[in-house]
Amino acid sequence: MKRRYSLRSKLSLSYVFVALISLFLISVITNLLLENHFKDYVIEKQEQGNRELVSLVSQHYGPDGAWNTDSIEKICLNALGQGKVIRVVDAAGEVIWDARLHDNTLCQQIIAQMARNMNERYPNWQGGYVEERYPVFSGEREVGHVEIGYYGPYYYNDRDLAFINSINRLLVSVGIFALFLSLLVGAFMARSLSTPISRVITTAQMIAKGYYQDRVTEAMNIHEIAQLTTAINHLAETLEKQEALRKRLTSDVAHELRTPLSTLQSYLEAMLDGIWHPDPERLKSCHEEILRINRLVEDLAQLTRYESDNMILVKTAFDLSTLCRGIIKNLEPGFRQKGITLRFSGEEETVLADKDKISQVLINLLSNAEKYTPPGGVVEVRVRGSADFAELQVKDTGIGIGPEDLPHIFERFYRADQSRTRLTGGAGIGLTITKGIVEAHGGKIQVQSEVGQGTEFIVLLPKKKNP
Ligand code: ADP
Repeated sequence: MKRRYSLRSKLSLSYVFVALISLFLISVITNLLLENHFKDYVIEKQEQGNRELVSLVSQHYGPDGAWNTDSIEKICLNALGQGKVIRVVDAAGEVIWDARLHDNTLCQQIIAQMARNMNERYPNWQGGYVEERYPVFSGEREVGHVEIGYYGPYYYNDRDLAFINSINRLLVSVGIFALFLSLLVGAFMARSLSTPISRVITTAQMIAKGYYQDRVTEAMNIHEIAQLTTAINHLAETLEKQEALRKRLTSDVAHELRTPLSTLQSYLEAMLDGIWHPDPERLKSCHEEILRINRLVEDLAQLTRYESDNMILVKTAFDLSTLCRGIIKNLEPGFRQKGITLRFSGEEETVLADKDKISQVLINLLSNAEKYTPPGGVVEVRVRGSADFAELQVKDTGIGIGPEDLPHIFERFYRADQSRTRLTGGAGIGLTITKGIVEAHGGKIQVQSEVGQGTEFIVLLPKKKNP
């Protein structure tokens, strides 16, 4: 199985890895640059030292043509201590002073010591004994020359090596400090990233266990984590709503079924016990209760179809007036039978909508108007258009809805007057479905009503935009 790491350790490790690589690169580059510059500096210093030496020697050539050999010896012995093997020769080729003649063994030792020093520190260093020849002038005249033998092309004396070592020690200390600092920063950054994510994970786990009221309340200062938090909170909210809805639906359904079922039960028990005779009237009551249960089941099936958030709409462009005329034609006989006048007025209004579902809206509104309008009343359907909306109006001269009921009529299972609607047989679902359909289309449904005067429903549907 693939090994899993925690976000914190993964981040810390990556941070340390990056820090180590950077440190390694910085130290290698610094070292290279420093050594190169220092090497150039040492070569230049060596060359300068040689010239100063020649100038010192030339000062001991007298105007009388004689060399001050004592002073020259002092100068040359001093130079030998610094690793320079000197030979001073006059214009005639006669040796004035020669370090090798003076003490050849010491010369060999000094050169061997220098080779050892350099090879110890730089095993790949390729150097050797070199000799340079510098002319000595008295005025314009060349009076001899100085041969300087040393270890070349460059040589680090003890002071130079101490300098290089101290620089290296400094680099190492800076490196260790930087590593320590990057470890601290890395741990801090990993912590600041993983803590909020862990918090989101805990909330998600709580949600998975059914604790939908849990939320991430901490403010997140990282954009992506803040987005994740919002998404999780939104998910919890949706689930919480769904759960509340589910619970309410279950209890509402149980409540709705209880009355007709217990009525049926008591009727049938009375008949079985011989208290009641199963005459046609009593059987008709039983039949009515069964019809009520059937209607309720039918309504519930419709509700599940229409009331989901992701209702699928098959949108087409059609004329709302034509649709209304067709439906009115079908429903008109029922209205006439009840003694209600059904009228239509309106012009062509094209909408982009789901035709079947909009038909359902009108059927629901009209069947309510029929149910709650007494004989002799008038029901009017009107289609109008504004710039953005097509307006469908269903107005009746029915019993109206009281102001205390008006805000609730779109709620599921809500009936304005329990005893009254029990007779009419509505379960309080029709308007919930109607509102669900209208809102799924991006539209609005409004209602105005006055008890005893009538009710007016206005449906606003977004119009088909001309491209
Ligand atoms: P129902 O199936 O009970 O008619 P609805 O959801 O369609 O359920 O309506 C909810 C309630 O709103 C109804 O019970 C009724 O009291 C009230 N209502 C709806 N339409 C009208 C109307 N046109 N006139 C009077 N009351 C109405």
